Amino acid sequence: MLSYRHSFHAGNHADVLKHIVQLLILRSLKEKEKGFLYIDTHSGVGRYSLLSFESEKTGEYLEGVARLWERDDLPEDVAIYIDALKKINRSGKLKYYAGSPLLAVQQLREQDSAILTELHPNDFPLLRQEFAKVKNVQTKRENGFQQLKSALPPKERRGFVLIDPPYELKEDYELVVKAIEEGYKRFATGVYAIWYPVVLRQHTKRIVRGLIDTGIRKILQIELAVRPDSDQRGMTASGMIVINPPWQLEAQMKKILPYLTKVLVPEGTGSWTVEWITPE
Ligand code: SAM
Repeated sequence: MLSYRHSFHAGNHADVLKHIVQLLILRSLKEKEKGFLYIDTHSGVGRYSLLSFESEKTGEYLEGVARLWERDDLPEDVAIYIDALKKINRSGKLKYYAGSPLLAVQQLREQDSAILTELHPNDFPLLRQEFAKVKNVQTKRENGFQQLKSALPPKERRGFVLIDPPYELKEDYELVVKAIEEGYKRFATGVYAIWYPVVLRQHTKRIVRGLIDTGIRKILQIELAVRPDSDQRGMTASGMIVINPPWQLEAQMKKILPYLTKVLVPEGTGSWTVEWITPE
């Protein structure tokens, strides 16, 4: 089943959180001269039009990135995200949204490389086309969960893996944990980030419990809720679970999440957490 299309959701509050965390991790990896490998297991198409039928239908980006776009009080660690989006919106109007592969590829240096996988038959050709001419970037129509077995460890021994499945199949909640176990066995010093939605809290807890059972240390959980947990339909919160996070990430997120909560959830129903699932 591949019915999830990210074009309906691009730039929503969950993308804002995910992509800020992603950019902060990439920035910290670039503090060292040595190259690294970026792996995006569930890439999507890379670039989205916010004027598309899909975006207009849901209007999700209006309660996400659009709430940050014209602000003049952005904290520096949020400004890096808006600056990255400005590069594909040269007119100054917010018309396009950069997905995780495009944000990452923008950041790569000569010595860095990327592997981007996407399984959807309509989305993969768009992803391939977006990066066809970019050096050091491979696009693959493959199962992203399998990538961690075949691509790790990277020859540079430095790497960042983003795992961002649609969770339309309940088994994704187990598959992310299995993928991490596989990856970690091969490459224990890599940085891994799992994105998750909170639709039903018990599903999210399955990931957390699964990760605790692996025995892996240094796992940080970052979450932004727009509403309290509920058993009604719909996503109330989303988060990123980061294994081997850069040392600054915890403090950076604690500093910017109050701002993001205030700006993204002006209704006042939002909340945030940054917690260690397992410390060092
Ligand atoms: N990471 C993207 C971003 O932040 O811009 C969004 C990705 S979207 C949440 C999930 C994507 O995974 C969809 O485009 C879907 O077609 C794709 N997908 C679903 N199952 C997959 C699998 N097993 N392997 C690779 N891609 C898959």
